[in-house]
Amino acid sequence: SSFTGLGLNTLIATHLTTKMNILKPTSIQCASLSTLLSQGASSRDAFIQAQTGSGKTLSYLLPILHDLLPLSTNSYIDRSIGTLAIIISPTRELAKQISDVLDVLLKLRLRPLDAAPDDEENNETRLTRWLVSGLLTGGATRAHEKARLRKGIPILVATPGRLLDHLQKTSSFGVSKCRWLVLDEADRLMELGFADTIKGILACLEGSRKLALQAVEGGQSTEVRGWDWSVRRRTILC
Ligand code: AMP
Repeated sequence: SSFTGLGLNTLIATHLTTKMNILKPTSIQCASLSTLLSQGASSRDAFIQAQTGSGKTLSYLLPILHDLLPLSTNSYIDRSIGTLAIIISPTRELAKQISDVLDVLLKLRLRPLDAAPDDEENNETRLTRWLVSGLLTGGATRAHEKARLRKGIPILVATPGRLLDHLQKTSSFGVSKCRWLVLDEADRLMELGFADTIKGILACLEGSRKLALQAVEGGQSTEVRGWDWSVRRRTILC
């Protein structure tokens, strides 16, 4: 199947093809897109089980972008809406890699391909400007990170400790509209002893729905170590 056949926004699919030379979805992308695109951020959670190198990163970034892109064309919304998606990575290195992929994706221009250069009605390109990503991995000073959070970081890639720190101490860090939470390499997060930190993060992202984790591959319901994933937003474990 193809990205558009799976329902991916055609602007994103075209961007993948022309700018990233990504032509066909990998099997994990087929599985995740068919589950995650149809229901947006409001529905069940996902457990994406796949090896590094299988295209796992795009398997969650594409549904997030697909979900947020329509918001980016709404001229009443800007960065001050706060953080809409949080991706947690166990290490700074992985966070940087994810952020690099996101930056390429976010170079997407919204102008329809067939729009004339001076077509006033189709000048949506600038409206995507607020849909930016940011890294929060303790690589910069706390004050600097706070200033960036105050401006608003719609898509955030973070390591757990620094994220929890800001959630607890940075009052201008708005997460009430957060729609997506991804725990990339959730196993490694646990191995590295971040279980309590993640629980603290989940507690800060208020919500009460008890989530069922759905294994994307194989379609079987999966529970990850008996956790009570009590968040309202869609949570993806990889
Ligand atoms: P990942 O498993 O997310 O670390 O991705 C591994 C590599 O595969 C990255 O360099 C991606 O750019 C590349 N990749 C991801 N999806 C595709 C695809 N559908 N077709 C070709 N390459 C891809």
